[in-house]
Amino acid sequence: MRVALFCYMKTLPALSQSLPTLIGWQGISLRAPEGWYLNGVHGTWREGVFQVASRGVCAVDVKWVRSQKASDLRYHLDRYLSKMEKDARKRKSGFSGKVEKHSDESLSFTWKADRKAVGIARRCPECRCIILAQVSGSRTDSVSTLASQIFSTLQDHSSDGWSTWCLYGLHTQVPEEYQLEKHRLLTGQTRLLFRHRREVLQIERIAQAEQLLNGNLPSQWGQFYREWRAYKGTWEERAYHRHPGAHFSGRLKMFPLVRECEQGLIRFQKPALKAHIAVWHCEPRNMLVHVVAQGGKKTQSLLEQVAERTQCH
Ligand SMILES: [Zn+2]
Ligand SMILES: [Zn+2]
Repeated sequence: MRVALFCYMKTLPALSQSLPTLIGWQGISLRAPEGWYLNGVHGTWREGVFQVASRGVCAVDVKWVRSQKASDLRYHLDRYLSKMEKDARKRKSGFSGKVEKHSDESLSFTWKADRKAVGIARRCPECRCIILAQVSGSRTDSVSTLASQIFSTLQDHSSDGWSTWCLYGLHTQVPEEYQLEKHRLLTGQTRLLFRHRREVLQIERIAQAEQLLNGNLPSQWGQFYREWRAYKGTWEERAYHRHPGAHFSGRLKMFPLVRECEQGLIRFQKPALKAHIAVWHCEPRNMLVHVVAQGGKKTQSLLEQVAERTQCH
């Protein structure tokens, strides 16, 4: 056990150098080579897929299923492979696949069509999450070594109660009980909105910060940003991650407050009246980072922890 841990610690810095791109979505994270990016997401925390693509033709596809029901791993893999085959046939290509069983909870596979792929199917012994992952490329690409490196970084549960969300220049962590309710993934703007009971947490990255700020301080920006018109309170200058920033402390204005009270009644929960906001300008990346926490007594402490865990450069 000690030897295994030692090997892991020795290989970790090497992997973060050769695979510098961290991707995190719905509690699943992996590392990929330089320049690879999240190419698409679909689904929920319970079940979904994402793809991380290279600038060329290589890509990693990850599918996850979190279910309390006992289900056969081979059944999930067979369904996955038949979809790959169907897609290949649509492209008028032949298809051949091979599956190797390592245990009831661990399988590996390869397939060849007009592309080829190396993949794994596994069930986590701790959280029971099922992961199907494959690295694919052209028929001449050597994907095996890359695949085993990437798969060794795959994580499907948090070890400290915080889930990593990392995409399009936004790198943050939120408590794992917070569920993603909405997201906006636009060029230059990444916004994730989470909810846990009445508490709402929103984390956002906006590019072209200097042009937006136009010489104003982040506290002045905070007063004019139209998304925060529902709040009233006070702004004060405050540095975050050694960047110029501002902190807001306040509550909902009258009209949104009435609406929130109505929603609280419908949900049988106390309304989320208090709001805290952190905003800072990361100059090296020329971006604004916003963290908004709306809820009750613990809102400020949640905001501080999430702002601390939101890395910008
Ligand atoms: Zn797990
Ligand atoms: Zn920064």
